[in-house]
Amino acid sequence: MRKLIIAIDGPAGAGKSTTARRVAERLGYLYVDTGAMYRAVTFAVLRAGISLCEEAVARILPQLQIGLRSTPGGQRTLLNGEDITEQLRLPEVTRWVSLVSSYPSVRRFLVEQQRRLGQGGGVVMDGRDIGTVVFPDADVKVFLTASLPVRARRRLRELQERGILATEEEVASDLQRRDLLDSRRTESPLSCAPDAVVVDTTELTIEEQTESVLELVRQKLCNKSG
Ligand code: C5P
Repeated sequence: MRKLIIAIDGPAGAGKSTTARRVAERLGYLYVDTGAMYRAVTFAVLRAGISLCEEAVARILPQLQIGLRSTPGGQRTLLNGEDITEQLRLPEVTRWVSLVSSYPSVRRFLVEQQRRLGQGGGVVMDGRDIGTVVFPDADVKVFLTASLPVRARRRLRELQERGILATEEEVASDLQRRDLLDSRRTESPLSCAPDAVVVDTTELTIEEQTESVLELVRQKLCNKSG
C-alpha cells in the first residue's frame, strides 16, 4: 500500500506537534516538525551574532546542516551534528523565528529539504505551509485550530516542563504576535488550504485529535483501494 503524505498546519499551540507525532507513531510514519527547522536556523543566526537582516541570514545558510532524528522521546534537531533540541524553545529564538521565517531565501532552503524528506510518502509533517506550499498535493490535509486561551495554556505547560518561566498573558501575546506575522507575510503565509479539513481542538483531548486525523487517513486509504 502506498504510504501517504499527511500535512498538518495551523497556528502555534493548536496541538499540531503532539497530534502529528502520535499519528506518525500509530502509522509507523516519519514525523517532521518543520517549526523546529525554522527555529534551528534562527538559533544558528542568533548564536553567530550576525545581523538579522535577510542578506546576512542568507549568507550563512550554506554553512548550516539541519538534521532531524526520530527517538522514542520525540524528534531531536541537530545543527551541524550538534543536538540543539533544548535550545529551540528559548524565548530569544521564539522572539525572532517569525522574522527569520519570513525571508524567501530561508523558506527556499528549508522547503527543499522538507520536500526531500517527504517525497517517498510515509510522512506526517506539521507547520504553517505544508498543505499549501510544501506538499500542495498531500494525501491528507488538516488545519488544526483552538481558541487563544487554550493554546496559551497548552504552550505555557510545555514551557514549564522545559523549565522556562513565563505567565499565561506573556505566552498569549507571543502567540498572537507570531500568528499575525505568520499570516501576514507575503511568502508562504499561514493559511488554510481550501481542501484541508479544519479540526478545532479547543474541546478535544490529544487522543481525540489524533483519532480525528487517523479517521481521515482511513477514509483516504479506503477511497484509494476502492
Ligand atoms: O511550530 P512552531 O511554533 O515551533 O514554529 C515556529 C515558527 O516557525 C512559526 O511561528 C513560524 O514563524 C515558523 N514556521 C513557518 N513555517 C513552517 C513552520 C514554522 O514559517 N512550516
